[in-house]
Amino acid sequence: MTKTWEERDLAHIWHPCSQMKDYETLPPMVIDYGEGVWLYDIHGKRYLDIVSSWWANLLGHCNKDINDAIKAQLDRLEHVIFANFSHRPAIELAEKLSEITPPKLTKFHFNDNGSSAVEAALKMCFQFYHQTGKPEKQRFFCLTEGYHGETIGALSVGSMDLFAKLYQPMMMDNIHVEAPDCYRCPYGKRRDACACECFEKAEQAFAAHAHEVAAMIVEPLLQGSAGMRIYPPLYLKKLRALCDRYDVKLIADEIATGFGRTGTMFACAQAGISPDVMCLSKGLTGGYLPMSVTCVTDEIYDAFYDDYGTGHAFVHSHTYAGNPLGCAAALAVQRVMEEQGILETAAKNAAWLTRELGEALGAHPQVGEIRHIGLIHAIELVRDPQTKEPLDARRRTGYAIYQKALSLGLVLRPLGDVLYFNPPLNITREELSLAIEMTVEAVHAVLPER
Ligand code: PLP
Repeated sequence: MTKTWEERDLAHIWHPCSQMKDYETLPPMVIDYGEGVWLYDIHGKRYLDIVSSWWANLLGHCNKDINDAIKAQLDRLEHVIFANFSHRPAIELAEKLSEITPPKLTKFHFNDNGSSAVEAALKMCFQFYHQTGKPEKQRFFCLTEGYHGETIGALSVGSMDLFAKLYQPMMMDNIHVEAPDCYRCPYGKRRDACACECFEKAEQAFAAHAHEVAAMIVEPLLQGSAGMRIYPPLYLKKLRALCDRYDVKLIADEIATGFGRTGTMFACAQAGISPDVMCLSKGLTGGYLPMSVTCVTDEIYDAFYDDYGTGHAFVHSHTYAGNPLGCAAALAVQRVMEEQGILETAAKNAAWLTRELGEALGAHPQVGEIRHIGLIHAIELVRDPQTKEPLDARRRTGYAIYQKALSLGLVLRPLGDVLYFNPPLNITREELSLAIEMTVEAVHAVLPER
């Protein structure tokens, strides 16, 4: 008998971030084609991609403008070694990035995925101090519950046990500062009316360790993988000042937050700060092609600029750095964002979504909080909204809702028991309405209101 595509998949493919045994009950959805927010499988069933295919897809699947740009580039140049060589799309993209990123960022180092952008950022900061007279600065500050990717260096500045705990013996010894936890604030404050009292944890860590630390890395305003934990811009403002006071570089990991996801082109803008290093990926190419950029200041770049014999160069490369197809896609993304007023429409739809989702699910007895930033809306499910006691993680409630939502035609892939929308920025209100309807049905199917 001929095997199905699903069977052929499972015969050989080890999927990312998966317990493969789960696929016995939930086989892979084999996608045939995509169109806007929709993914169509080989059986003709469609799924609304409310999670933007791992937060990457920015302007819909098979967006005509991006497709055309890649096709045009494909017939000129698919790839070229990026040491000593260059090409027009990379040059234009670097110019564009220098316009849209925070003002102090002027130099752009290309890599090929988010984790590798983080690795480059860490190595750059380490090497910066090594060759500017402070070689003792070798460690990093990061926030608890932070996530920066899954290569060993990136894991070392991440704090989520799920991804990192097992590999502890392989990792660098960094300093994990207690992150803001605005939903369950230990200071009894509210996110929209606090003075970031929790910042004292960062102050204490800097006082004790800044002399041995090269940089602090954070996900600005939004700890995505931790369950879409949102914290106030004031925290970032204070962090910028603290980093300056102690001569510690600030790395903003905008891989998930960049390109309008939080309502502004970059989250740092909401705090009015310019980091020393910024990591970009995902939405950079509209979620089309694996590409990332590590953006730095002149100050950092200049510390590496010297005669060859000094050994001051940044000897770090990835084969697909600066891939022309990725650059062409990224340029098209910027054109579409400008020409179609994507951020402006997304902002209006975000405010509308906040109201609609609140009305649809705000009163459900297992909904603890619906928090939002930009179009990102997260629904935290709890045992009891009064005590904010989490659901029993072993019951995998979020996963059960995910399965139900899939059967309805919605990709509502949760983070534990946090459901979230993080759709392409050009999603329409009609599509958002459908997503809300399916979410409500899936939540009620698994957690009926008594
Ligand atoms: N940093 C952040 C904030 C992320 O959300 C992610 C991925 O989700 C990464 C880094 C890692 O990116 P990649 O999966 O491309 O390695």
